[in-house]
Amino acid sequence: MPSTVKYHINKTQGEEHELPCIKCTGKTAHKVLASVDIRGEDGDSNFSFEWATDNQIVQCLGCKTVSFRKASSNSEDYHQINEEGDCEYSIDEMLYPTRIEGIKGLGDETHYLPSNVRKIYDETLMALSSQAPVLAGIGLRALLETVCKEKNATGRDLLKKIDSLVSAGILTPASAAILHKIRTLGNAAAHEMKPHSDKQLRLAMDIVEHLLKDVYILPKQVESEFEK
Ligand SMILES: [Zn+2]
Repeated sequence: MPSTVKYHINKTQGEEHELPCIKCTGKTAHKVLASVDIRGEDGDSNFSFEWATDNQIVQCLGCKTVSFRKASSNSEDYHQINEEGDCEYSIDEMLYPTRIEGIKGLGDETHYLPSNVRKIYDETLMALSSQAPVLAGIGLRALLETVCKEKNATGRDLLKKIDSLVSAGILTPASAAILHKIRTLGNAAAHEMKPHSDKQLRLAMDIVEHLLKDVYILPKQVESEFEK
């Protein structure tokens, strides 16, 4: 059997999928607005192999945000779904922009950040939502370093710098204690190439986002809302 590849336009249009949304919390229904669906076949008289790749423009039915979903499957990759032995093809799903349920980032508030902090924040968020845990860990540490530098923290190492921000009244001792945990987290990622668990990284990102809010975002917002 010769190999064949067919391109179908809008074969999966109108389908609905539960996907994490870029803006909404949790998973929401997304509708396929348009698609290019590729179907392939390969093999010989003894063996045949089929594969499918759906390239879909999808829209969240809650906030109407439009994004992209690529779903791939093939006739060799399936798993059992119940005790009766029924099977389902495994679907390898990729979403663009990349996202992870529960990670929303600071959104529009990032424009209050100094440009160098914002740049590292955006990249760290991207690493985190692209499931690149080593890079996300290094990014979190780099964010701490950059905030310290930007706030003129003093000291030889990050430990001393974080403590100096407490003395300067920029950080509370409680926040500093939490940041020390992230500092050691970044150490392991940078020097031992040891990735952290999703949960640790998400928590660390939450903490760093709080720090960015306290240090940069809230003061600017208060300044613009309550005139001096
Ligand atoms: Zn949405």
